[in-house]
This record gives sequence, structure tokens and C-alpha cells, in this order.
Amino acid sequence: MEQFDTALIGGGPVGYIAAIRCAQLGKKTALIENRDLGGTCLNRGCIPTKALLHTAELYSEIKNHGKDMGLLAEGIGFDYAALAARKDAVISRLRRGIEALVKGRKITLIRGSAAFSGPRTLRVSGTEPETALNGGEITIEAANIIIASGSEPASIPVPGADLPVVLNSDAVLSLTRAPESAVIIGGGVIGIEFATLLNSLGKKVTIIEMLPQILNGMDQSICEGMTKILTRRGVEIHTAAKLLEIAQGSGTKTGAICAYEEGGAKKEASGEIVIMAVGRRPVSKTLNLAAAGIAENRGFITVDERLATNVPGIYAIGDVTGKVQLAHVASAQGLVAAAAIAAGADVHKAPKMDYGIIPACVYTSPEIAAVGKTETQVKEAGLPYKTGIFPAAGNGRSLIMNSTEGFVKIITHAETGEILGAHIMASRATDLIGEIALAMKAEATVEELADTIHAHPTVNEMIMEAAHDVEGLCCHKV
Ligand SMILES: Cc1cc2nc3c(=O)[nH]c(=O)nc-3n(C[C@H](O)[C@H](O)[C@H](O)COP(=O)(O)OP(=O)(O)OC[C@H]3O[C@@H](n4cnc5c(N)ncnc54)[C@H](O)[C@@H]3O)c2cc1C
Repeated sequence: MEQFDTALIGGGPVGYIAAIRCAQLGKKTALIENRDLGGTCLNRGCIPTKALLHTAELYSEIKNHGKDMGLLAEGIGFDYAALAARKDAVISRLRRGIEALVKGRKITLIRGSAAFSGPRTLRVSGTEPETALNGGEITIEAANIIIASGSEPASIPVPGADLPVVLNSDAVLSLTRAPESAVIIGGGVIGIEFATLLNSLGKKVTIIEMLPQILNGMDQSICEGMTKILTRRGVEIHTAAKLLEIAQGSGTKTGAICAYEEGGAKKEASGEIVIMAVGRRPVSKTLNLAAAGIAENRGFITVDERLATNVPGIYAIGDVTGKVQLAHVASAQGLVAAAAIAAGADVHKAPKMDYGIIPACVYTSPEIAAVGKTETQVKEAGLPYKTGIFPAAGNGRSLIMNSTEGFVKIITHAETGEILGAHIMASRATDLIGEIALAMKAEATVEELADTIHAHPTVNEMIMEAAHDVEGLCCHKV
């Protein structure tokens, strides 16, 4: 039986990062992965969606606004198969990079599926004949085991949810032809990104969302702003709408018909495909957690602030912990777990996870990004607060980029000037949010943000303007 200091189950964005950090800290490390390194994020999530969205946005921009910007691109079209191939090429290149990093750190990569056979032992069975295990089974022993098995698409138990015309995010990202129309079940981040993709490519999109608004949980200004933008672009949005049934179309109605209830009335929406975007469930059933006595809650593994489970020496990180299902949070958890393992008996001195300052991004057009509390949360907490808002329409760079929809909104503590949250809907919002996250981490006040000289003309200037607006001192706003 081969022995390791640390063994990781899962080579997603959290597993491989934690493995690298464990190896950097001098641990003999094994990384077990049963699919492709990079996990959901690289192969079926963050990267493929953004690769597709990038081209779709370029296409839409040139098609709809090229002429206004002096571009003569007549007869512009797209080749979805080529777009999908480019997405795959981006993934492959990044995956090769991860493989090289893992190899370079002398981490033992074991291709196969791991399950606990005891609190220190894992049985790994090969998934394919060509894997390192050659289809066989091995047992490894490790002083510390980190579970990073991630999550998979969830579904809802309505009749017809298992029809072939109903696709989850994995299946949508494998398409080599764009559907002419889609009904998207779920108006959360994944659903809204798929809506943006298909809408930008000129396809018909209907969203059915059970909650009263799309992007629920984000600041009200963002939910309302994006609803207006998508609706104006032709996306049909039904909120407070409950999916009842999915049926395969027949005769002239090909594709799928979704029956749903809205405002007490039964309605129908049809599309060539149905995209099920109703959240993700943990991958933990196959791990035989009971063999090690690991506590879980509906499949999500219970962890403390250093990602330790109830069993000494066993940690869990990433989506399988059910904390915040974002790749960058997962990676941060991986570093905390690795530091806790390396600290040994001094573990109480090791850093803890801080979930207070987490940027969250949605790759719509314009982009959305947020960090900290929403205005509703600040109100509910009873904090005295002020807000500063600057519209994209007043920003020179946004106008140059033909992206004048949106705003930067900053929420601050009325007495201390502490930045409590920021909510951005603007071109490059996903890059802008880093500045505010850093300011919050460094405990900078809104005055310091306002006093920081920002380059001109940049979209970042909107942050400075919104910071000035908190005190009513924004020069570019009446
Ligand atoms: C469509 C989509 C878009 C997304 N976009 C973003 C985004 O823009 N930004 C963002 O931050 N997040 C995004 N996410 C979320 C992000 O992908 C996840 O939060 C992230 O991948 C979680 O990382 P993880 O390592 O915990 O799990 P995963 O990435 O799921 O990786 C887990 C790995 O473990 C392997 N595994 C599981 N069980 C075993 C076993 N028994 N033995 C061996 N290997 C095993 C799996 O095959 C997988 O490779 C998106 C997700 C989706 C679905």
C-alpha cells in the first residue's frame, strides 16, 4: 500500500490548488481525479461558458452596433461548431497547464475514483482501461485526506425532467449547434449566463424562475436592472412561476413544451431545448463517507472554519462543503486547508476562512459584479448607511465602448465610512470589483477610495465617482 502525507479526492480548481500548496509545503501528495483535471470550472463551468460568451458578445456587438462604430461587417454570421471548437481548445490548453504544474510539483496523479475504506485509507478504482491503474484497484494510505469532489447539476422532480430534450449545463456546453430557442428553468447565475449567450446569438429565450426575481440574492438594483435589459433584448422572463411539467412536442410543435403556473394561471412555453439550471448538488454519495465516520448534511460535508471535518486529519473543500459554490472561494478554501495541515499541532495558529469579502460575478452584457452586503442586508442589519451611485452613461470610457447601461453603487457605513458593499453592472464589472474587494480587505474607507487618483479615461473612474457621490460630491453628476 503506497503511503502519502496528504491525499486529495478530486482535481477541480480547489483540489489541484490544495495539492500544489501541500506539495509546496513539503508534503508527499497524491491527487486522485476520475475525469479531467480542472474539474467543473475548467471543463464544464467557468471557462467554457465565458469562452462561448466572449464570441457571442463580439458577434452581437458587431452585428447590432458595428455600423455606429464605423465597422462595415456586412453579412456577419457565426459558426457555432467553430465556436465550440475554440472553447475546447482554450480548455485543453489550460488543462495541459494544470497537468504541467502538478507534474512539476512532483505530485502523484492517480486517475481513478476514490472511496474511503477507513479514516486513513482510500480505495481507488480505475475508470478507464488506459488510466494509470489499468482498470484495476489500489489502496493508498494518507495521514491527511482532503475531499474535493465538487458538485454536479441538480434537477427538479417534475414529469418530463428526464426527457432527452432537457439538458443540464454539462450537456449544453457540449453542443456543437446552437438551438433556435430554449426554455431555461432557473433565473440564477448559470441560467442568466446561458440566456445571455443564446440571446446574443439571436436565439429565442424564455426563462421560468420560481422566485419573485431573477438573480435572487443580488442587490435589488442589479436584479431590476438586468431584468429590464434582458426583457428589452427580447428575453421572455417569467418570475414567481412554477414549472409543472415538461412534454416532448409533436406535430408542428417540435422540441419541448413546458407547462408552468404563473399568477394562478396555467401557461405554456416552448423551445427546441429546455435548459435545467436549478442549482448543483454535492458529489459525495460515492465516497463511502461512512467508512471513515464523516458527518454530512444532505450530502454536503460539514466543516469548521479551517475546513476540518469531524474526523481528525480529514478535510473537505470546495463545492462539496456547500458554503459558496464559486471557483475562487473553493481555491481559497484549499489554501486554508493546506495551511491547517502544514501547521500540525499549531493548527490553532493557522488562518481561518473568511467568507465576508467574496466577489461574485455574472458574465452578462453588461457584466455584473458584487462584493459585500446588499442594501437590503444592510437595512435588515439595522446599520446606518449611505449609498453612492454613478451611472455608466456618465463615464467616458463606457461611452467609447458603447456600453452605457449600468452603474456602480457603493454602500458605506454612515458614521465610519467603512465600505459595506458594492454592486456593479457595467462593462468590465468583473474586473472592477477587485478594486473594491481589495479596499474592503485593507479596511480602506470610502474617502480613501474617493481620494485615490484613478486613470482617465477608464471604467474604474466610475468607482471613484460613486465614492465621491456617497457624500454628494461627485463632480460628474448633478
Ligand atoms: C455552467 C457553470 C458556470 C460556472 N461559472 C463560474 C464562474 O464564472 N465563476 C466561478 O467562480 N464559478 C463558476 N462556476 C462554479 C465552479 O465551477 C465551481 O464552484 C467549482 O468548479 C468548484 O470546484 P471544486 O473543485 O469544489 O469542484 P469541481 O470543479 O466539481 O471538481 C471536483 C472534481 O472531483 C472529481 N471527483 C469527484 N468525485 C471523485 C472521486 N470519488 N474520485 C476522484 N475524483 C472525483 C470530479 O470529477 C471533478 O473533476 C460555474 C459552474 C457551472 C456549472
